[in-house]
Amino acid sequence: MKINRRNFLKITGIAGGSLLAGREKTAEAKETKEDFGDKWGCLIDTTVCLGCRKCEEACNKVNHLPPPDTSFEDYTVFEKQRRPDAKSYTVVNRYFKEPDAPDKKKEPIFVKVQCMHCNDPACVSACIVGALQKLPEGPVAYNASKCIGCRYCMVACPFVIPAYEYHNPLTPKVRKCIFCHEILEKGGLPGCAQVCPVEAITFGKRRDLVHLAHFKIRENPDRYINHVYGEEEVGGTSWMYLASVPFEKLGFQKLGKLPPPRLTETIQHTVFKGFVSPLAFYALLGGVMWITRRKKKNDAGKEE
Ligand code: SF4
Ligand code: SF4
Ligand code: SF4
Repeated sequence: MKINRRNFLKITGIAGGSLLAGREKTAEAKETKEDFGDKWGCLIDTTVCLGCRKCEEACNKVNHLPPPDTSFEDYTVFEKQRRPDAKSYTVVNRYFKEPDAPDKKKEPIFVKVQCMHCNDPACVSACIVGALQKLPEGPVAYNASKCIGCRYCMVACPFVIPAYEYHNPLTPKVRKCIFCHEILEKGGLPGCAQVCPVEAITFGKRRDLVHLAHFKIRENPDRYINHVYGEEEVGGTSWMYLASVPFEKLGFQKLGKLPPPRLTETIQHTVFKGFVSPLAFYALLGGVMWITRRKKKNDAGKEE
């Protein structure tokens, strides 16, 4: 059966059972710890990025995206923080090393933002029709012909990356960086990495990039903080970053090491392991809430 928006609701009912079966298989597969060292990745060195926006322009070109609202030579875009959207798979944002320093002494730090191509991607796990897939080589690819527009991927992504073509009522698609996987399969480089004039984006095998990142940190302890963002966050990502200041100051979220799909699995498994059915679990939660409320009421009475 061809999957479209019309029969999505019909399918979701049927899918419940098969999803459960599929989940068992996935959990089994995850028991064997996967080594992501051989996957493709990119290391972005924010200490060398110039903020020239050439990567944005190249991405737009290689992915045949619509023309931007403002030209790629317009640097006033740095006045506010942007996110990738339906028309741009990547954007560069500007931060300052010391935001409170006088204007003339402010040292800018530019950060390119795109899909991180997580090792264990929450978007893939959330997509019930397999429109998003982690390719064996590392990129998280999108197949528009399978997508039913549920946008679960947008809710699931911890980096708030997938965007939706709300302006396209007939054939809307989810949009995000696809790691130029078709170009890579032919032996080329990602459009953005290819064009960067200062080689702020290094493409390679994830294992080599991790080594390179730590080598750079070791050799230049005054230049970099000792943290490779993406090495461990959410179970590791294919795209990683180096910086001179803590990543929270550059718009990065502080995220744990556990991939979001494993987190939900852990909660489910903990509940079922103790032979607690979901109904009993909710009854227990209800009981806790009732006791807490009663206690608050009693305390308020005593205070009066
Ligand atoms: S960053 Fe978001 S969209 Fe990209 S692979 Fe990870 S979960 Fe998916
Ligand atoms: S890897 Fe390709 S799709 Fe992703 S940001 Fe770079 S040019 Fe764009
Ligand atoms: S092309 Fe390179 S230097 Fe220019 S903004 Fe992009 S990452 Fe930075």
